[in-house]
Amino acid sequence: MRINQFIAALPGSYLFSDIAQRVDRYLSENPGKSVLRLGIGDVTRPLAPYVANAFADAARGMATAEGFCGYPPGDGEPDLIEAINRHDYRSRGIKLENDEIFISDGAKTDVSGLQELFSADTLVAFTDPVYPVYVDSNAMAGRLGEYVDGRWTRAVYLPTTAENGFVPPLPDKRVDVIYLCYPNNPTGTVLTKEQLKVFVDWARKNEALIIYDAAYKAFIQGDEIPLSIYEVEGADEVAIECSSFSKTAGFTGVRCAYTVVPKKVKGRNGDQWVGLNGLWRRRLGSKCNGVSYPVQMAAKAVFDEEGWRQVQENIVYYRNNAKVLLDTLKPTGLSVFGGEHAPYVWLKTPEGISGWEFFDRLLNKVQVVGTPGEGFGPSGAGYFRLTAFSTLETTVEAAKRVASCI
Ligand code: PLP
Repeated sequence: MRINQFIAALPGSYLFSDIAQRVDRYLSENPGKSVLRLGIGDVTRPLAPYVANAFADAARGMATAEGFCGYPPGDGEPDLIEAINRHDYRSRGIKLENDEIFISDGAKTDVSGLQELFSADTLVAFTDPVYPVYVDSNAMAGRLGEYVDGRWTRAVYLPTTAENGFVPPLPDKRVDVIYLCYPNNPTGTVLTKEQLKVFVDWARKNEALIIYDAAYKAFIQGDEIPLSIYEVEGADEVAIECSSFSKTAGFTGVRCAYTVVPKKVKGRNGDQWVGLNGLWRRRLGSKCNGVSYPVQMAAKAVFDEEGWRQVQENIVYYRNNAKVLLDTLKPTGLSVFGGEHAPYVWLKTPEGISGWEFFDRLLNKVQVVGTPGEGFGPSGAGYFRLTAFSTLETTVEAAKRVASCI
């Protein structure tokens, strides 16, 4: 057989393996040192007990004649879909039908799988820096041209930096698809409803699609920042929205997510307009046999009153860590962003050094691990990401150590 040349052409190893290798090398050369990790964006708090009980009850039920289920519905358990619609959408005045919501094992699965709905020559825009999965999945499908000097020749980059206040510019030419992620990974920044509306209006005018990744929406505070792109008028004509239980409820190891594909969202097939809802359902039917039943029952419990209360305790805990990072680092004079509506704090490196140089400085001098901005795209150069997904004790100590390195 011949391999997929586009996968073979992907650059280097995955960012977090590069980081792990550097840390391993440091530890083998410096035995006995302990490293504080604020690098990878994985949660650290245990599951809410109420949610874990629902998970266990459903699993035990599988050992009984009444509780046993075989293949779950491919699109998701109707009770879970109804709970999502009620909690995330109807309660905020957003009208969706339940068959516009699809359950999956992860937002990563969905944000990478959705590109299968696009034609091979689709032109795609990404905010830059960006969650690498959107770029990699389009590159693997052969849509992004060649990788030259850290950039894909056929991708449209929307630089999102301190210079433009982390508000991405509109594409300077027509594109078919724009990926937006808010609250943003890696910058931790958000867009207001008005700023988001600029993209929705542009997409409507230009027959473009927005893939909106809302994986971190649980971290939004107050009423100013939209929790869903569908709070913007007309977004249900042009946007698909992906959400996840991973960061909301600590499901990174449990695996459950949901994606909204409104029926009004359409794409062209020659002269015909085709609904993406039906296409996505058709694709899932062929590629997926649904998500584990106990997992979906655990996810449903997140939206019960007690489940939500317990889940919020973890969010509050991480928010406090983000505040510790901000409160400790801002007085050093560093330019520090994000952290208010997101579990990520994004720094401009001191003295204009690269993110990787800052990574090495922190690892070698004070044994703190973060993520160099270069790993998220060309406009991440000279930035650095710290996560709030740690214990309070580690966060307090790591923040002090980083501050001592400025
Ligand atoms: N989307 C963004 C922006 C992320 O940062 C992550 C994980 O870090 C994901 C999606 C993955 O979500 P899931 O665990 O549901 O696959």
